Amino acid sequence: MKDLEVLTAKQLKPSRLYKSVRTHWTVAVSDFARLTHNPIRAIVEGLKIVPNPDKQLIALSIGDPTTFGNLKPAPEIVDAIRKVIEDGCSNGYGPSTGFPEARQAVADYVSHQGEVTANDVILCSGCSCALDLCLSVLAGPGQNILIPKPGFSIYRTLAEGFGIECRYYDLIPENDWEVDLLQLESLIDANTAALILTNPSNPCGSVFSKNHLEAILEIAERYFLPIIADEIYEHFVFPGREFHSVSSLSKKVPVLSCGGLTKRFLVPGWRMGWIIIHDREDIFRNVRKGLANLSARILGANTLVQAALPDVLKNTPPAFYEDLVSTLYRHAEMAYKAIKHIRGLRPVMPGGAMYMMIGIDIECFPEFETDLEFVQALVAQQSVFCLPGQCFEYPNYVRIVLTVPEEMIIEACKRLDEFCEKHYKRDDAIIEEQNGLLGGMNRF
Ligand SMILES: *Cc1c(COP(=O)(O)O)cnc(C)c1O
Repeated sequence: MKDLEVLTAKQLKPSRLYKSVRTHWTVAVSDFARLTHNPIRAIVEGLKIVPNPDKQLIALSIGDPTTFGNLKPAPEIVDAIRKVIEDGCSNGYGPSTGFPEARQAVADYVSHQGEVTANDVILCSGCSCALDLCLSVLAGPGQNILIPKPGFSIYRTLAEGFGIECRYYDLIPENDWEVDLLQLESLIDANTAALILTNPSNPCGSVFSKNHLEAILEIAERYFLPIIADEIYEHFVFPGREFHSVSSLSKKVPVLSCGGLTKRFLVPGWRMGWIIIHDREDIFRNVRKGLANLSARILGANTLVQAALPDVLKNTPPAFYEDLVSTLYRHAEMAYKAIKHIRGLRPVMPGGAMYMMIGIDIECFPEFETDLEFVQALVAQQSVFCLPGQCFEYPNYVRIVLTVPEEMIIEACKRLDEFCEKHYKRDDAIIEEQNGLLGGMNRF
């Protein structure tokens, strides 16, 4: 009787007899997870960051405007979310692309981008999630995307997991970080799925002019290339500059514009972002459906924030935005003026956003071979931490954030000055050589 039972069990599980199956526990990680990584984390974790114990650390590295408590969301936003929580009517699931009222509120808020209806809006869990959906709807393994260099690292993090190749187009610091258009064009081939534009830029703080955006659009139109516009810093522009969303200038090129509450409303942790679909010629018909499909993977954005959105976007007073931008502008000017005079450093004055890039004449600091070594020594001696340019694929630069309190910027600039004075060495041989060359040229 017992033998018969064993036989039956075997007959019921032929897989064990005919197929090769696992014989012990080995759980592999997917290629998707293995290929996904954040270069900033990898670089920063590899650094030796040991501050000078006699000096308080000043972190100019963190792209979160709420870190130091000097910048706070408007009371109107806080009231809006409080009301929603107390009402208790927004605790359930919403539609995966967002509540119609919230999508309509965003459509009204972004009306400067072009004609937008609630149907053109997809709410996401932060702008990063918006970028994730845009990339995954437009590109797949074997395809490539064009991303700015220097550029925000999340594009690479998102693309590489999917097996999408990143091709970097150059931004030129001497030209206010405009795109090297010829080099951009040289990267495009039949497998290029999209062009990513970050305007205003993290890490450069640059703002593209209308003419420049039109020149970029001309290339996108010629090569039938859709644009993913990361416009999370829209309206963050300093006096004398104007923000143009690329979609407002496009005649034909379809654009997915990504934005959100994160930076302008000073609530990164609320995770509210959006995609605006700009498509005059119905080129994105399938992409639109694809985005709706993809949004089902997360079952929609946070419903409390969605329910508060109409009030947040309508009630935040213009003075709140204006104060934020003028604070950032003041900080930018202060840092620029102080750093401009430091030997061996070349700050690039930003036109917007909340960052400044500073070039390092690394050959004038013979003790350091790379921006990484420069940054490590700066932390060890002066307790000032800036992100090395390598985090943005851009060596021999550092990025500082302008959201830290004024007195910290002043103190950090003083310490930077002291540090550079101590380590700056100009090779006299190089100077003599240059003089000799000049003398030679003067004879003609
Ligand atoms: C901060 C930032 C984001 C991410 O925003 P979240 O809403 O926090 O996901 C996207 N793009 C750029 C350029 C950023 O600086």
